[in-house]
Amino acid sequence: MNNGTLLQELEIYRSFIQYSDTLFSFHSINGDFTYVSPTSFPLLGYEPEELLNTCLFDFSHPDDRKKLENICFTKSYETVNYRFCKKEGDYIWLETTLIPYCHENEIKGFSCISRDVTAQTATKAQLEENKEMYRLLVENFQDTVGIITKRGHWIYINNTGKKLFGVTRKEEIIGKSIFDFVYPAAYKETENQILLNGFKEPFELTVARHDGLKKYVQVKLIPTKYKERDTFQILIRDLTEQKKTEEIMHRTEKLSVVGQLAAGIAHEIRNPLTAIKGFTQLLKKEDNNDYLEVMLSELERIEDIVSDLLILAKPQPSKTEKVDIGLLLKETVDLFKSEALLHNVEIMIDIEISDLFIEGEANKLKQVYINLLKNAIEAMPDGGKIQVSAIKTRSDQIVTKIIDNGIGIPEERIPNLGEPFYSTKEKGTGLGLMICNRIIKNHGGTMKIKSKVDIGTTIIILFPAFNSGKSPAIIK
Ligand code: ADP
Ligand code: MG
Repeated sequence: MNNGTLLQELEIYRSFIQYSDTLFSFHSINGDFTYVSPTSFPLLGYEPEELLNTCLFDFSHPDDRKKLENICFTKSYETVNYRFCKKEGDYIWLETTLIPYCHENEIKGFSCISRDVTAQTATKAQLEENKEMYRLLVENFQDTVGIITKRGHWIYINNTGKKLFGVTRKEEIIGKSIFDFVYPAAYKETENQILLNGFKEPFELTVARHDGLKKYVQVKLIPTKYKERDTFQILIRDLTEQKKTEEIMHRTEKLSVVGQLAAGIAHEIRNPLTAIKGFTQLLKKEDNNDYLEVMLSELERIEDIVSDLLILAKPQPSKTEKVDIGLLLKETVDLFKSEALLHNVEIMIDIEISDLFIEGEANKLKQVYINLLKNAIEAMPDGGKIQVSAIKTRSDQIVTKIIDNGIGIPEERIPNLGEPFYSTKEKGTGLGLMICNRIIKNHGGTMKIKSKVDIGTTIIILFPAFNSGKSPAIIK
Protein backbone atom coordinates (compact mmCIF):
# COMPACT_ATOMS: atom_id res chain seq x y z
CA MET A 1 0.00 0.00 0.00
CA ASN A 2 1.49 3.31 -1.07
CA ASN A 3 1.37 6.56 0.83
CA GLY A 4 -1.29 8.02 -1.45
CA THR A 5 -3.74 5.24 -0.73
CA LEU A 6 -2.95 5.44 2.96
CA LEU A 7 -3.68 9.15 2.98
CA GLN A 8 -6.92 8.58 1.10
CA GLU A 9 -8.07 5.99 3.63
CA LEU A 10 -7.09 8.25 6.50
CA GLU A 11 -9.19 11.02 4.98
CA ILE A 12 -12.17 8.68 4.79
CA TYR A 13 -11.81 7.79 8.48
CA ARG A 14 -11.28 11.40 9.43
CA SER A 15 -14.37 12.63 7.65
CA PHE A 16 -16.37 9.72 9.06
CA ILE A 17 -15.31 10.69 12.56
CA GLN A 18 -15.88 14.37 11.83
CA TYR A 19 -19.44 14.05 10.56
CA SER A 20 -20.62 10.99 12.46
CA ASP A 21 -23.10 11.49 15.26
CA THR A 22 -21.04 9.00 17.22
CA LEU A 23 -18.47 10.45 19.60
CA PHE A 24 -14.93 9.11 19.54
CA SER A 25 -12.46 9.81 22.29
CA PHE A 26 -9.13 8.56 23.58
CA HIS A 27 -8.22 8.47 27.23
CA SER A 28 -5.14 8.03 29.37
CA ILE A 29 -5.14 5.33 32.01
CA ASN A 30 -6.69 7.67 34.62
CA GLY A 31 -9.59 8.60 32.34
CA ASP A 32 -8.32 11.97 31.05
CA PHE A 33 -9.41 12.87 27.52
CA THR A 34 -6.40 12.88 25.13
CA TYR A 35 -8.49 13.16 21.95
CA VAL A 36 -12.14 14.13 21.42
CA SER A 37 -13.94 14.05 18.08
CA PRO A 38 -15.88 17.17 16.98
CA THR A 39 -19.24 15.47 17.75
CA SER A 40 -18.61 16.47 21.37
CA PHE A 41 -20.05 19.87 20.62
CA PRO A 42 -23.47 18.93 19.25
CA LEU A 43 -23.69 15.98 21.63
CA LEU A 44 -22.36 17.31 24.92
CA GLY A 45 -22.16 21.06 24.43
CA TYR A 46 -18.37 21.01 24.87
CA GLU A 47 -15.81 21.91 22.20
CA PRO A 48 -13.25 19.09 21.96
CA GLU A 49 -10.54 21.38 23.36
CA GLU A 50 -12.59 22.06 26.47
CA LEU A 51 -12.60 18.41 27.32
CA LEU A 52 -8.92 17.71 26.75
CA ASN A 53 -7.12 16.81 29.99
CA THR A 54 -10.37 16.62 31.94
CA CYS A 55 -11.35 13.29 33.38
CA LEU A 56 -14.20 11.28 31.85
CA PHE A 57 -15.32 9.95 35.24
CA ASP A 58 -15.93 13.47 36.57
CA PHE A 59 -18.71 13.90 34.00
CA SER A 60 -20.56 10.74 34.88
CA HIS A 61 -23.60 10.64 37.13
CA PRO A 62 -22.54 9.78 40.72
CA ASP A 63 -24.69 6.63 40.61
CA ASP A 64 -22.98 5.42 37.42
CA ARG A 65 -19.40 6.39 38.20
CA LYS A 66 -18.37 3.18 39.96
CA LYS A 67 -19.80 1.05 37.16
CA LEU A 68 -17.92 3.11 34.56
CA GLU A 69 -14.62 3.06 36.42
CA ASN A 70 -14.77 -0.68 36.96
CA ILE A 71 -15.34 -1.32 33.29
CA CYS A 72 -12.51 0.95 32.16
CA PHE A 73 -9.99 -1.19 33.94
CA THR A 74 -11.01 -4.55 32.53
CA LYS A 75 -8.81 -5.62 29.69
CA SER A 76 -11.62 -6.54 27.30
CA TYR A 77 -14.12 -4.70 25.12
CA GLU A 78 -17.09 -3.64 27.15
CA THR A 79 -20.22 -1.67 26.44
CA VAL A 80 -21.73 0.38 29.19
CA ASN A 81 -24.71 2.69 29.56
CA TYR A 82 -24.16 5.67 31.80
CA ARG A 83 -25.27 9.25 32.28
CA PHE A 84 -22.94 12.04 31.14
CA CYS A 85 -23.39 15.58 32.44
CA LYS A 86 -23.66 18.01 29.53
CA LYS A 87 -22.29 21.53 29.58
CA GLU A 88 -25.83 22.82 30.15
CA GLY A 89 -26.00 20.76 33.33
CA ASP A 90 -28.49 18.09 32.26
CA TYR A 91 -27.58 14.48 31.66
CA ILE A 92 -27.75 12.37 28.56
CA TRP A 93 -27.56 8.62 28.42
CA LEU A 94 -24.51 7.41 26.51
CA GLU A 95 -23.94 3.89 25.30
CA THR A 96 -20.18 3.62 25.23
CA THR A 97 -17.96 0.85 23.97
CA LEU A 98 -14.60 0.91 25.68
CA ILE A 99 -11.59 -0.50 23.94
CA PRO A 100 -8.55 -0.85 26.17
CA TYR A 101 -5.17 -0.06 24.77
CA CYS A 102 -2.57 -2.43 26.15
CA HIS A 103 1.13 -2.46 25.87
CA GLU A 104 3.11 -5.43 27.15
CA ASN A 105 -0.02 -6.72 28.83
CA GLU A 106 -0.54 -3.53 30.78
CA ILE A 107 -3.38 -1.10 30.19
CA LYS A 108 -2.02 2.20 28.99
CA GLY A 109 -5.30 3.84 28.15
CA PHE A 110 -8.57 3.28 26.32
CA SER A 111 -10.69 4.65 23.58
CA CYS A 112 -14.43 5.21 23.68
CA ILE A 113 -17.11 5.07 21.03
CA SER A 114 -20.22 6.69 22.45
CA ARG A 115 -23.76 7.03 21.21
CA ASP A 116 -26.67 9.03 22.59
CA VAL A 117 -29.29 6.54 23.75
CA THR A 118 -31.26 8.92 25.96
CA ALA A 119 -34.53 8.39 24.13
CA GLN A 120 -34.49 4.58 24.35
CA THR A 121 -33.04 4.41 27.85
CA ALA A 122 -35.47 6.86 29.29
CA THR A 123 -38.47 4.85 28.16
CA LYS A 124 -36.88 1.66 29.37
CA ALA A 125 -35.98 3.24 32.70
CA GLN A 126 -39.48 4.59 33.02
CA LEU A 127 -40.94 1.18 32.27
CA GLU A 128 -38.64 -0.38 34.85
CA GLU A 129 -39.66 2.28 37.34
CA ASN A 130 -43.35 1.70 36.67
CA LYS A 131 -42.88 -2.02 36.90
CA GLU A 132 -41.10 -1.64 40.24
CA MET A 133 -43.84 0.64 41.50
CA TYR A 134 -46.60 -1.80 40.54
CA ARG A 135 -44.60 -4.68 41.96
CA LEU A 136 -44.25 -2.91 45.31
CA LEU A 137 -47.93 -2.06 45.34
CA VAL A 138 -49.06 -5.57 44.53
CA GLU A 139 -46.56 -7.37 46.77
CA ASN A 140 -47.43 -5.29 49.79
CA PHE A 141 -51.13 -4.94 49.17
CA GLN A 142 -53.06 -5.75 52.32
CA ASP A 143 -55.06 -8.44 50.55
CA THR A 144 -53.72 -11.55 48.93
CA VAL A 145 -53.45 -11.03 45.19
CA GLY A 146 -52.70 -13.79 42.74
CA ILE A 147 -53.33 -15.41 39.40
CA ILE A 148 -54.78 -18.89 39.09
CA THR A 149 -55.49 -21.05 36.09
CA LYS A 150 -59.05 -21.85 35.06
CA ARG A 151 -58.69 -25.10 37.00
CA GLY A 152 -57.48 -23.40 40.15
CA HIS A 153 -53.68 -23.76 40.05
CA TRP A 154 -51.60 -20.91 41.38
CA ILE A 155 -49.45 -19.10 38.80
CA TYR A 156 -48.60 -16.08 40.89
CA ILE A 157 -49.16 -14.96 44.47
CA ASN A 158 -48.01 -11.83 46.32
CA ASN A 159 -46.19 -11.58 49.68
CA THR A 160 -49.41 -11.15 51.65
CA GLY A 161 -50.44 -14.58 50.36
CA LYS A 162 -47.44 -16.18 52.04
CA LYS A 163 -48.67 -14.87 55.38
CA LEU A 164 -52.22 -15.99 54.75
CA PHE A 165 -51.25 -19.55 53.89
CA GLY A 166 -48.49 -19.68 56.50
CA VAL A 167 -45.61 -20.60 54.18
CA THR A 168 -42.09 -19.26 53.96
CA ARG A 169 -41.65 -19.33 50.19
CA LYS A 170 -44.03 -18.61 47.34
CA GLU A 171 -42.83 -21.81 45.66
CA GLU A 172 -44.73 -23.71 48.32
CA ILE A 173 -47.94 -22.40 46.76
CA ILE A 174 -47.19 -21.78 43.09
CA GLY A 175 -48.14 -24.78 40.99
CA LYS A 176 -50.42 -26.13 43.72
CA SER A 177 -54.18 -26.14 43.47
CA ILE A 178 -56.27 -23.84 45.58
CA PHE A 179 -58.14 -26.98 46.64
CA ASP A 180 -55.02 -27.97 48.60
CA PHE A 181 -55.98 -25.22 51.02
CA VAL A 182 -59.71 -25.85 51.19
CA TYR A 183 -61.50 -28.10 53.68
CA PRO A 184 -62.99 -31.11 51.85
CA ALA A 185 -66.46 -30.00 52.92
CA ALA A 186 -66.06 -26.80 50.92
CA TYR A 187 -64.70 -28.44 47.71
CA LYS A 188 -68.03 -28.48 45.93
CA GLU A 189 -68.83 -24.86 46.69
CA THR A 190 -65.37 -23.69 45.66
CA GLU A 191 -65.45 -25.76 42.50
CA ASN A 192 -68.81 -24.30 41.56
CA GLN A 193 -67.54 -20.82 42.10
CA ILE A 194 -64.61 -21.41 39.78
CA LEU A 195 -66.28 -23.52 37.13
CA LEU A 196 -69.49 -21.56 36.95
CA ASN A 197 -67.45 -18.37 36.79
CA GLY A 198 -69.13 -17.18 39.92
CA PHE A 199 -66.72 -14.30 39.91
CA LYS A 200 -69.42 -11.69 39.92
CA GLU A 201 -70.04 -12.13 43.62
CA PRO A 202 -67.29 -12.58 46.17
CA PHE A 203 -67.69 -15.72 48.26
CA GLU A 204 -66.53 -16.72 51.73
CA LEU A 205 -64.25 -19.61 52.43
CA THR A 206 -62.31 -21.16 55.29
CA VAL A 207 -58.66 -21.64 54.43
CA ALA A 208 -57.19 -24.89 55.72
CA ARG A 209 -53.59 -24.11 56.50
CA HIS A 210 -51.09 -26.90 56.77
CA ASP A 211 -50.17 -25.79 60.29
CA GLY A 212 -53.77 -26.31 61.36
CA LEU A 213 -54.68 -22.65 61.74
CA LYS A 214 -58.03 -21.59 60.31
CA LYS A 215 -58.45 -18.40 58.31
CA TYR A 216 -61.79 -16.98 57.29
CA VAL A 217 -61.52 -15.23 53.96
CA GLN A 218 -63.53 -13.59 51.24
CA VAL A 219 -62.54 -14.55 47.71
CA LYS A 220 -63.11 -12.60 44.54
CA LEU A 221 -62.31 -13.96 41.10
CA ILE A 222 -61.89 -11.80 38.03
CA PRO A 223 -61.37 -13.48 34.65
CA THR A 224 -58.25 -12.21 32.99
CA LYS A 225 -55.68 -13.14 30.35
CA TYR A 226 -52.17 -13.96 31.44
CA LYS A 227 -49.57 -14.85 28.82
CA GLU A 228 -52.36 -15.53 26.31
CA ARG A 229 -54.07 -17.96 28.69
CA ASP A 230 -57.52 -17.63 30.20
CA THR A 231 -56.91 -17.23 33.91
CA PHE A 232 -58.44 -15.70 37.01
CA GLN A 233 -57.11 -12.86 39.00
CA ILE A 234 -57.81 -13.84 42.58
CA LEU A 235 -58.25 -11.43 45.47
CA ILE A 236 -58.44 -12.83 48.98
CA ARG A 237 -59.35 -10.70 51.96
CA ASP A 238 -58.57 -12.07 55.42
CA LEU A 239 -61.69 -11.75 57.58
CA THR A 240 -60.36 -13.71 60.57
CA GLU A 241 -59.81 -10.72 62.84
CA GLN A 242 -63.10 -9.16 61.79
CA LYS A 243 -64.92 -12.42 62.59
CA LYS A 244 -63.28 -12.53 66.01
CA THR A 245 -64.35 -8.98 66.79
CA GLU A 246 -67.87 -9.75 65.63
CA GLU A 247 -67.95 -12.75 67.94
CA ILE A 248 -66.76 -10.68 70.90
CA MET A 249 -69.35 -8.00 70.12
CA HIS A 250 -72.01 -10.66 69.90
CA ARG A 251 -70.93 -12.09 73.22
CA THR A 252 -70.82 -8.71 74.92
CA GLU A 253 -74.26 -7.94 73.60
CA LYS A 254 -75.52 -11.24 74.89
CA LEU A 255 -73.99 -10.46 78.28
CA SER A 256 -75.57 -7.08 78.62
CA VAL A 257 -78.95 -8.43 77.57
CA VAL A 258 -78.55 -11.18 80.15
CA GLY A 259 -77.66 -8.60 82.75
CA GLN A 260 -80.75 -6.51 82.11
CA LEU A 261 -83.01 -9.50 81.94
CA ALA A 262 -81.49 -10.90 85.09
CA ALA A 263 -82.09 -7.71 87.02
CA GLY A 264 -85.73 -7.62 86.01
CA ILE A 265 -86.44 -11.25 86.66
CA ALA A 266 -84.54 -11.47 89.92
CA HIS A 267 -86.41 -8.55 91.43
CA GLU A 268 -89.78 -9.82 90.36
CA ILE A 269 -89.18 -13.32 91.60
CA ARG A 270 -87.43 -12.67 94.86
CA ASN A 271 -90.32 -11.41 96.95
CA PRO A 272 -92.95 -13.99 96.01
CA LEU A 273 -90.25 -16.59 96.36
CA THR A 274 -89.48 -15.65 99.95
CA ALA A 275 -93.18 -15.83 100.76
CA ILE A 276 -93.67 -19.23 99.12
CA LYS A 277 -90.59 -20.61 100.82
CA GLY A 278 -91.70 -19.36 104.21
CA PHE A 279 -95.16 -20.88 103.87
CA THR A 280 -93.76 -24.16 102.58
CA GLN A 281 -91.51 -24.35 105.64
CA LEU A 282 -94.49 -23.69 107.87
CA LEU A 283 -96.53 -26.37 106.12
CA LYS A 284 -93.67 -28.81 106.48
CA LYS A 285 -93.54 -28.23 110.22
CA GLU A 286 -97.19 -29.17 110.55
CA ASP A 287 -97.25 -32.06 108.13
CA ASN A 288 -93.96 -33.76 107.32
CA ASN A 289 -94.88 -34.53 103.73
CA ASP A 290 -92.31 -35.86 101.17
CA TYR A 291 -93.65 -33.58 98.48
CA LEU A 292 -93.00 -30.60 100.65
CA GLU A 293 -89.40 -31.74 101.00
CA VAL A 294 -89.04 -31.79 97.21
CA MET A 295 -90.75 -28.44 96.92
CA LEU A 296 -88.39 -26.92 99.43
CA SER A 297 -85.30 -28.23 97.68
CA GLU A 298 -86.56 -26.97 94.34
CA LEU A 299 -87.35 -23.61 95.89
CA GLU A 300 -83.81 -23.46 97.21
CA ARG A 301 -82.56 -24.08 93.72
CA ILE A 302 -84.63 -21.22 92.40
CA GLU A 303 -83.23 -19.09 95.18
CA ASP A 304 -79.70 -20.04 94.11
CA ILE A 305 -80.38 -19.08 90.51
CA VAL A 306 -81.97 -15.81 91.55
CA SER A 307 -79.01 -14.86 93.69
CA ASP A 308 -76.63 -15.80 90.86
CA LEU A 309 -78.63 -13.63 88.53
CA LEU A 310 -78.43 -10.78 90.99
CA ILE A 311 -74.67 -11.01 91.19
CA LEU A 312 -74.57 -10.80 87.43
CA ALA A 313 -77.04 -8.05 87.02
CA LYS A 314 -76.31 -5.66 89.78
CA PRO A 315 -72.74 -5.54 90.81
CA GLN A 316 -73.29 -3.82 94.13
CA PRO A 317 -70.72 -1.23 95.12
CA SER A 318 -68.48 -2.78 97.70
CA LYS A 319 -65.62 -2.27 100.07
CA THR A 320 -62.35 -4.01 99.48
CA GLU A 321 -60.15 -5.38 102.21
CA LYS A 322 -57.01 -7.42 102.68
CA VAL A 323 -58.11 -11.00 102.12
CA ASP A 324 -56.06 -14.05 103.03
CA ILE A 325 -56.74 -16.38 100.13
CA GLY A 326 -55.23 -19.33 101.99
CA LEU A 327 -57.61 -18.94 104.88
CA LEU A 328 -60.53 -18.26 102.57
CA LEU A 329 -59.80 -21.47 100.65
CA LYS A 330 -59.61 -23.50 103.85
CA GLU A 331 -62.93 -22.11 105.03
CA THR A 332 -64.56 -22.83 101.68
CA VAL A 333 -63.28 -26.39 101.61
CA ASP A 334 -64.73 -26.86 105.10
CA LEU A 335 -68.13 -25.88 103.79
CA PHE A 336 -67.95 -28.81 101.39
CA LYS A 337 -66.87 -31.44 103.90
CA SER A 338 -70.21 -33.17 104.26
CA GLU A 339 -71.13 -32.85 100.59
CA ALA A 340 -67.77 -34.34 99.58
CA LEU A 341 -68.24 -37.26 101.93
CA LEU A 342 -71.66 -37.87 100.48
CA HIS A 343 -70.19 -38.14 96.97
CA ASN A 344 -67.17 -40.15 98.02
CA VAL A 345 -64.85 -37.27 97.16
CA GLU A 346 -61.66 -36.53 99.04
CA ILE A 347 -60.52 -32.92 99.14
CA MET A 348 -56.80 -32.44 99.78
CA ILE A 349 -55.56 -29.02 100.61
CA ASP A 350 -52.00 -27.83 100.18
CA ILE A 351 -51.36 -24.24 101.12
CA GLU A 352 -47.77 -23.12 101.27
CA ILE A 353 -47.45 -20.08 103.47
CA SER A 354 -49.76 -17.83 105.35
CA ASP A 355 -48.82 -14.66 103.45
CA LEU A 356 -51.28 -15.06 100.61
CA PHE A 357 -53.01 -11.73 100.73
CA ILE A 358 -54.87 -10.07 97.94
CA GLU A 359 -57.02 -6.99 97.86
CA GLY A 360 -60.65 -7.77 97.36
CA GLU A 361 -64.00 -8.75 98.65
CA ALA A 362 -64.01 -11.94 100.71
CA ASN A 363 -67.63 -12.86 100.03
CA LYS A 364 -67.30 -12.63 96.29
CA LEU A 365 -64.01 -14.50 96.28
CA LYS A 366 -65.61 -17.23 98.35
CA GLN A 367 -68.37 -17.43 95.75
CA VAL A 368 -65.69 -18.18 93.11
CA TYR A 369 -64.28 -21.13 95.04
CA ILE A 370 -67.74 -22.40 95.96
CA ASN A 371 -68.71 -22.50 92.29
CA LEU A 372 -65.47 -24.21 91.30
CA LEU A 373 -65.54 -26.82 94.05
CA LYS A 374 -69.17 -27.53 93.25
CA ASN A 375 -68.26 -28.12 89.60
CA ALA A 376 -65.37 -30.35 90.61
CA ILE A 377 -67.56 -32.53 92.82
CA GLU A 378 -70.25 -32.67 90.15
CA ALA A 379 -67.61 -33.81 87.64
CA MET A 380 -66.92 -36.92 89.74
CA PRO A 381 -70.21 -38.80 90.06
CA ASP A 382 -68.37 -41.94 91.19
CA GLY A 383 -66.12 -40.15 93.65
CA GLY A 384 -62.52 -39.05 93.32
CA LYS A 385 -59.95 -36.60 94.55
CA ILE A 386 -59.78 -32.83 94.50
CA GLN A 387 -56.48 -31.07 95.16
CA VAL A 388 -56.66 -27.47 96.27
CA SER A 389 -53.47 -25.43 96.44
CA ALA A 390 -52.33 -21.85 96.78
CA ILE A 391 -48.88 -20.32 96.45
CA LYS A 392 -47.30 -16.92 96.05
CA THR A 393 -44.94 -16.60 93.09
CA ARG A 394 -41.77 -14.55 92.93
CA SER A 395 -43.52 -12.16 90.58
CA ASP A 396 -45.98 -11.35 93.37
CA GLN A 397 -48.92 -13.31 92.14
CA ILE A 398 -51.17 -15.54 94.16
CA VAL A 399 -51.83 -18.73 92.23
CA THR A 400 -54.60 -21.05 93.29
CA LYS A 401 -55.32 -24.37 91.64
CA ILE A 402 -58.26 -26.71 91.87
CA ILE A 403 -57.53 -30.05 90.29
CA ASP A 404 -60.11 -32.81 89.96
CA ASN A 405 -59.90 -36.21 88.31
CA GLY A 406 -63.42 -36.13 87.00
CA ILE A 407 -65.00 -36.48 83.56
CA GLY A 408 -63.08 -33.59 82.01
CA ILE A 409 -64.20 -31.22 79.26
CA PRO A 410 -63.76 -31.88 75.51
CA GLU A 411 -61.27 -29.44 74.01
CA GLU A 412 -63.74 -27.90 71.59
CA ARG A 413 -66.09 -27.06 74.48
CA ILE A 414 -63.52 -25.10 76.47
CA PRO A 415 -64.09 -21.83 74.57
CA ASN A 416 -67.81 -22.03 75.44
CA LEU A 417 -67.20 -22.16 79.16
CA GLY A 418 -68.23 -19.03 80.91
CA GLU A 419 -70.96 -18.25 78.40
CA PRO A 420 -74.25 -17.63 80.15
CA PHE A 421 -76.47 -20.69 80.35
CA TYR A 422 -73.84 -22.98 78.86
CA SER A 423 -74.31 -26.14 80.88
CA THR A 424 -74.02 -29.85 80.20
CA LYS A 425 -75.87 -30.75 83.37
CA GLU A 426 -79.49 -31.66 83.55
CA LYS A 427 -80.02 -29.30 86.46
CA GLY A 428 -77.20 -26.89 85.65
CA THR A 429 -77.70 -23.15 85.31
CA GLY A 430 -74.58 -22.47 83.28
CA LEU A 431 -73.96 -19.36 85.32
CA GLY A 432 -71.29 -20.59 87.74
CA LEU A 433 -68.21 -20.11 85.58
CA MET A 434 -69.52 -16.90 84.16
CA ILE A 435 -69.84 -15.45 87.66
CA CYS A 436 -66.35 -16.73 88.52
CA ASN A 437 -64.97 -15.01 85.44
CA ARG A 438 -66.69 -11.77 86.29
CA ILE A 439 -65.50 -11.73 89.94
CA ILE A 440 -61.93 -12.74 89.08
CA LYS A 441 -61.71 -10.09 86.39
CA ASN A 442 -62.96 -7.44 88.77
CA HIS A 443 -60.16 -8.41 91.13
CA GLY A 444 -57.56 -7.94 88.41
CA GLY A 445 -57.06 -11.68 88.10
CA THR A 446 -57.28 -14.30 85.37
CA MET A 447 -58.65 -17.82 85.15
CA LYS A 448 -57.29 -20.63 82.99
CA ILE A 449 -58.99 -23.95 82.38
CA LYS A 450 -57.04 -27.03 81.38
CA SER A 451 -58.88 -30.24 80.87
CA LYS A 452 -58.64 -33.74 79.41
CA VAL A 453 -61.65 -35.97 78.93
CA ASP A 454 -61.72 -38.80 81.50
CA ILE A 455 -58.55 -37.53 83.16
CA GLY A 456 -59.73 -34.39 84.85
CA THR A 457 -59.81 -30.64 84.97
CA THR A 458 -57.44 -28.05 86.40
CA ILE A 459 -58.62 -24.56 87.12
CA ILE A 460 -55.81 -22.07 87.67
CA ILE A 461 -56.54 -18.63 89.06
CA LEU A 462 -53.98 -15.84 89.26
CA PHE A 463 -54.45 -12.77 91.43
CA PRO A 464 -52.04 -9.90 91.94
CA ALA A 465 -50.77 -10.07 95.54
CA PHE A 466 -51.72 -7.35 98.01
CA ASN A 467 -49.57 -4.26 97.51
CA SER A 468 -47.74 -5.92 94.66
CA GLY A 469 -47.42 -2.55 93.01
CA LYS A 470 -50.03 -3.42 90.39
CA SER A 471 -53.06 -1.20 90.20
CA PRO A 472 -55.54 -2.24 92.88
CA ALA A 473 -58.55 -4.20 91.81
CA ILE A 474 -61.46 -2.20 90.58
CA ILE A 475 -64.49 -3.73 92.12
CA LYS A 476 -67.82 -2.92 90.67
P1 ADP B 1 -73.22 -25.50 85.68
O1 ADP B 1 -72.33 -26.06 86.73
O2 ADP B 1 -74.48 -24.96 86.23
O3 ADP B 1 -73.44 -26.42 84.53
P2 ADP B 1 -71.01 -23.78 85.20
O4 ADP B 1 -70.88 -22.46 84.56
O5 ADP B 1 -70.53 -23.91 86.60
O6 ADP B 1 -72.51 -24.22 85.07
O7 ADP B 1 -70.26 -24.83 84.32
C1 ADP B 1 -70.53 -24.90 82.94
C2 ADP B 1 -70.16 -26.24 82.36
O8 ADP B 1 -68.75 -26.38 82.39
C3 ADP B 1 -70.66 -27.42 83.12
O9 ADP B 1 -71.97 -27.76 82.76
C4 ADP B 1 -69.68 -28.51 82.75
O10 ADP B 1 -70.01 -29.05 81.50
C5 ADP B 1 -68.40 -27.74 82.56
N1 ADP B 1 -67.51 -27.84 83.71
C6 ADP B 1 -67.21 -26.86 84.61
N2 ADP B 1 -66.33 -27.29 85.54
C7 ADP B 1 -66.04 -28.57 85.24
C8 ADP B 1 -65.18 -29.59 85.82
N3 ADP B 1 -64.46 -29.36 86.93
N4 ADP B 1 -65.12 -30.78 85.19
C9 ADP B 1 -65.85 -31.02 84.09
N5 ADP B 1 -66.68 -30.13 83.51
C10 ADP B 1 -66.78 -28.92 84.07
MG1 MG C 1 -71.44 -24.99 88.25
